[in-house]
Amino acid sequence: MESQRPTLLDQFGRQVKDLRISVTDRCNYRCFYCKPVESFGHVYRAGLLSYEELVRASRLFVEELGVEKIRLTGGEPLLRREIEKLVEELAKLPGLKDLAMTTNAYLLPAKAQRLRNAGLKRLTISLDSLKPDRFAEITRHDSLDRVMKGIEAAEKAGFGPLKINVVVIKGVNDDEIADFARFSRETGHIVRFIEFMPLDEDRQWDMTRVVSQATIVEKLKEVGPLEEVGRSYSSETANTYRYADGKGEIGIIASVTAAFCGQCSRIRMTADGKIRTCLFSQNEHNLLERMRRGDSDEQLLDYIREVTWRKESGHNINAPDYQYPERSMSLIGG
Ligand code: SAM
Repeated sequence: MESQRPTLLDQFGRQVKDLRISVTDRCNYRCFYCKPVESFGHVYRAGLLSYEELVRASRLFVEELGVEKIRLTGGEPLLRREIEKLVEELAKLPGLKDLAMTTNAYLLPAKAQRLRNAGLKRLTISLDSLKPDRFAEITRHDSLDRVMKGIEAAEKAGFGPLKINVVVIKGVNDDEIADFARFSRETGHIVRFIEFMPLDEDRQWDMTRVVSQATIVEKLKEVGPLEEVGRSYSSETANTYRYADGKGEIGIIASVTAAFCGQCSRIRMTADGKIRTCLFSQNEHNLLERMRRGDSDEQLLDYIREVTWRKESGHNINAPDYQYPERSMSLIGG
């Protein structure tokens, strides 16, 4: 029988089981809805969590606080030097059930097999257009070919079925929803449409550019009869759909029009060692400072428990007084 695992709880009774770690705020893409051309990130080497510090923090979250899943993200996580060494250390943590990464896939042709060998279990790949010119306009990087090769490399390394994240923006790529559904049906990859969120560094977001879950579902139906499967576990971000003939799996992450904060099980750590209890938090909690001044494991655990207890009940994207968090998605870790 499995022994009782520790739990990390907030004041609303939600259990935090899912840690997202940004390993760098650098990115080789400049997706217009995320990072402006002139953005270079702000985490200097000395302020970056070292691999030793990352493993120590992760060990506390997993072994002492019951976190079951870690996702590595960024910025672009594959830009962090020898990321597979970090993966290898994290994969050894007893109690960790899932180790995943979100990436733009550009460096996967060289890295996929090494990540697999190091113990990475799952990959999510961001891909907002299947058209080369449009892909280049969105990311400001003409490299759709290379991303497709990254997807192939990931499959070959045994990461299939992959999750493919598509941020849908009105007037930009909403005419490709059916194409992405066909892509899922043909390849077996799980395509997940994400509603555009007010987390862009340029602060150009507005509600009129959001394509809602309801609209996405209507467009998906053009491809064939669709069934709603729902969420495979309560804190799952994506609501899942399948085509009636069994081909193609689609998720919709409707953070704006159908928020799922009440079931949230996530906590985040930025590349410079700040804990964020919500993607939209106005406050951050400096774990790195405490580690570097010599706090014991017990002191760090007390601190993590205390800040988690105060996790926000939910985001307020739809409130008239919504305030952007100080950092954008790529600096927080999406
Ligand atoms: N570089 C990696 C990648 O491209 O997947 C990981 C980091 S990226 C910030 C993580 C995810 O956040 C990507 O799927 C990206 O499309 C999404 N994202 C960034 N800004 C967003 C926004 N304003 N609204 C919704 N999703 C966003």
